[in-house]
Amino acid sequence: MIFKVLTLFPDVFQGPLESSMVGLATQRGLVSIQVTDIRSYAHDPHHTADDYQFGGGPGMVLKPDLIFEAVDDLLSSHSDEERATIPIIMTSPQGEILTQAIAQELSLLPEIMIICGHYAGVDERVRRHLVNREISIGDYVLTGGEIPAMVLIDSVTRLIPGVVGSHENIEEDSITSGLLQHPLYTRPAEFRGMAAPDILRSGHHAEILKWRRRESLRHTLDRRPDLLETAELDKTDLTYLSTLGYTRPETSNQ
Ligand code: SAM
Repeated sequence: MIFKVLTLFPDVFQGPLESSMVGLATQRGLVSIQVTDIRSYAHDPHHTADDYQFGGGPGMVLKPDLIFEAVDDLLSSHSDEERATIPIIMTSPQGEILTQAIAQELSLLPEIMIICGHYAGVDERVRRHLVNREISIGDYVLTGGEIPAMVLIDSVTRLIPGVVGSHENIEEDSITSGLLQHPLYTRPAEFRGMAAPDILRSGHHAEILKWRRRESLRHTLDRRPDLLETAELDKTDLTYLSTLGYTRPETSNQ
């Protein structure tokens, strides 16, 4: 998977994406993250990449010409048909909110282009005539699209086969499984008077699975009851949830 990122701040990407899973995925050739400075496409001696808004108002706007040229250049090795299949994503608080389903969909593609906005935003012609997808990482406004781009890259990368050690780890994750994950414990078994549950150290695999499923349901009911409406739940799950006072609405998936 190739990520091609356009940004005014390429240095920001160095630390976070060079460590941990994403760093290892890069070293192992599973992903390639190619970060390009939008300013390198400027034609003036000052490398101007932003300008005042037409109509007045606070905040600078990223110029469209550099971004169009950069995208054309970075995708120049592709035929028109190939290019049409590459998502050209702009990070934006106005976009569709990133979900695990979107990350999953993007993880199946060979290449993604991500444009990071900054300042007051990006010239509207980029949105209307160049990008084919806008992604937000949540209903709040950040100073720039660099952190959203890294969030997107991280969430997509960990779904690429071979990046996370065992595929089971991913499928059991909160949200991916449809529920929130059960609590996790490790050594020491007892710490400052706080003990890990005996059941997890009992060696009874079936009982451990049962406990984990129940805890997962309980956590989901406490923190994200909305997930229970669409999660795959069997009769045992629903019976347990009813002991916690939850009844699934009639319209939910059974
Ligand atoms: N004035 C813009 C608006 O109201 O839509 C917001 C501009 S924001 C200060 C600068 C840039 O940060 C945006 O162009 C976008 O690339 C990025 N950004 C800010 N919040 C974001 C979010 N929640 N998700 C994705 N990108 C975001």
